[in-house]
Amino acid sequence: MSRLIFIGPPGSGKGTQAAELSKREKIPHISTGEILRNSVANKTDLGLKAKYYMDQGSLVPDQLVFDLVEERLSQEDAQNGWILDGFPRNSSQAETFQQMLYAKNRDCDYAIFLEVPDAILIERLLLRGRADDTAETIRHRLDVYQEETQPLIDFYGARGKLRRIRGNQPVEKVTQDLQHALTTGH
Ligand code: AMP
Repeated sequence: MSRLIFIGPPGSGKGTQAAELSKREKIPHISTGEILRNSVANKTDLGLKAKYYMDQGSLVPDQLVFDLVEERLSQEDAQNGWILDGFPRNSSQAETFQQMLYAKNRDCDYAIFLEVPDAILIERLLLRGRADDTAETIRHRLDVYQEETQPLIDFYGARGKLRRIRGNQPVEKVTQDLQHALTTGH
């Protein structure tokens, strides 16, 4: 059973690694960005509220994201473990989430941090070409990451949960390093 949080800048390969691990471990891969993008595409209430922030590359208000995560984690398939990709995204989300887990006598096992240099990220994001991957929003998303998400490295580090993986390697090598970290705990 694993409860894992993936932290890393946009373009670090979190999504790819989380999807691969999810298949292998048979636990759901929960990407808040993907859920939000689907909500926007389907023009749900949540999507209509989130679109404005996503188009800018800013964070969607905490409460909206927290509600969607809580709902998703209450589903049957998430009772034996999960991989969170893109949540928590700032200190306030991390605090609230930690309290939610403790209230259920749960905790995350590891926060996996995929480290990739900025220059490589920009190159990767421009190649990906998603709707919110324009040069301007990329810059903004990297700034948001540095200001809001980077502090989570200390948050999970202080709790002994952080495992660093070098993301600037061939995808198979990243998978291998990740597997090693998860099996040995180092
Ligand atoms: P991602 O696919 O993780 O890069 O997320 C795409 C966009 O969805 C982000 O730029 C944010 O606007 C929004 N988003 C995803 N996860 C979160 C979160 N945990 N908190 C706030 N906004 C989020």
